[in-house]
Amino acid sequence: MPVLIDMEKCGKIKDCPGEGLCIKVCEAGALIEEDGEIVLVPENCDDCDICIQSCPNEAITKKS
Ligand code: SF4
Ligand code: SF4
Repeated sequence: MPVLIDMEKCGKIKDCPGEGLCIKVCEAGALIEEDGEIVLVPENCDDCDICIQSCPNEAITKKS
């Protein structure tokens, strides 16, 4: 199941303490930048969960 991104917690990539760290760690290309914000490409997400652990704002989760 693809991850969920809380856009309120994430905000703009320029304000990310990790400078868009989730994009850098996602090797599947499932997280991309669009108009300064994170956009998920769900069909590319392979469930590795690395972005969940990487996000300094805890903006990325999965439904439990
Ligand atoms: S690492 Fe977290 S806060 Fe930073 S851009 Fe990605 S989702 Fe947003
Ligand atoms: S779970 Fe893995 S593949 Fe999916 S968006 Fe996060 S880093 Fe990318």
